[in-house]
Amino acid sequence: MKVYNFSAGPSVLPEEVLQTAAAQMCDWQGSGQSVMEMSHRSKTFEPIIQNTENLLRRLMHIPENYDVLFLQGGASTQFAMVPMNLKKGGKAAYVNTGVWSKKALAEAKKYLQAEEIASSQDKNFTYIPAVNKIEGDYDYAHITLNNTIMGTHWKHIPETGKGLDGKSIPLVSDISSCILSEPLDVSRFALLYAGAQKNLAPAGVTLVIIRKDLVTDNPIDGTPTMLQYKTHTENASMYNTPPCWNIYMMGLVLEWIEKNGGAAGMKERNEKKANLFYDYLDKSDFYFSPVEKNSRSLMNIPFLTREKDAEKAALLNKEFVSEAEKAGLVNLAGHRLVGGMRASLYNAMDIQGIHALIDFMEGFAKARA
Ligand code: PMP
Repeated sequence: MKVYNFSAGPSVLPEEVLQTAAAQMCDWQGSGQSVMEMSHRSKTFEPIIQNTENLLRRLMHIPENYDVLFLQGGASTQFAMVPMNLKKGGKAAYVNTGVWSKKALAEAKKYLQAEEIASSQDKNFTYIPAVNKIEGDYDYAHITLNNTIMGTHWKHIPETGKGLDGKSIPLVSDISSCILSEPLDVSRFALLYAGAQKNLAPAGVTLVIIRKDLVTDNPIDGTPTMLQYKTHTENASMYNTPPCWNIYMMGLVLEWIEKNGGAAGMKERNEKKANLFYDYLDKSDFYFSPVEKNSRSLMNIPFLTREKDAEKAALLNKEFVSEAEKAGLVNLAGHRLVGGMRASLYNAMDIQGIHALIDFMEGFAKARA
């Protein structure tokens, strides 16, 4: 039985992409080899990585003065690579919008003086703090554009003031769970990173988009070769063996995005899905969304029942998740750190999936009325 998969990542991939990958599995375009078997330095693999990079540059309108890197280690490795490579004066600004930004901040603290300049912890991270401009003697500023666990999303990109060198403070962002879900002005950022296992590819490749002037010769002392951006920019992501299969899969996903209207097409598709679901939650007297309306994510939608008794609520959540699974709606449990339920509606999720989810939710609520 085909299920609707609401996982926060690894997550649903377009059916068409999986079919293409299956058809090409044993013999990529008459090469007589599977992409999994190719030498990363071969003439056969070269057009595959090139195609992925070209598509990404086209779809995200990445300016010429940015490098695109296909790395490993997940977004979590970027939590360390960013401070190790961008440290100059020794201070960085972090906005704390939940679990992932907290982790990024904690990691940065190992290498420099990372300051939490704003936080939404006072309301359990259910909103994005009003940070319009970041100023101070910072080497860079960091935000998590979409908060996968809390279900919040920045609707504006903060400006940055001048840093110690008289230039704008570089803005760094984790875009793991919203990359290509809608158009994004890359030029507003100095560095973007994303684990690809949500909107782009299977788990195993991490994308970094870095403005060339940030690739320095002098990361902090002791930075391993593999954790220096320079190593990867100088070798076009081929210093060592890159995750070839994932880069190929990303190319197929990007082709699907392009065929479906690019970033703008994804936005339209995602807004339709998310609006349908939020409207349902907002009208429901059984469920609700804990997230403030102007901070809501299009990609990850946590929701709770209105049951006030904590024990009863936990039991209800458990029943919900298990009955949903039986109905072919899988991975709806909230993150283990926050509980409740969460539906992730990444690009590849079809609107039929939301209709099926709402139908199920309606039946579950009625049975308990
Ligand atoms: N940042 C965000 C916003 C995430 O959602 C995740 C994973 N869910 C991570 C970082 C960690 O990514 P990875 O597992 O690729 O290290």
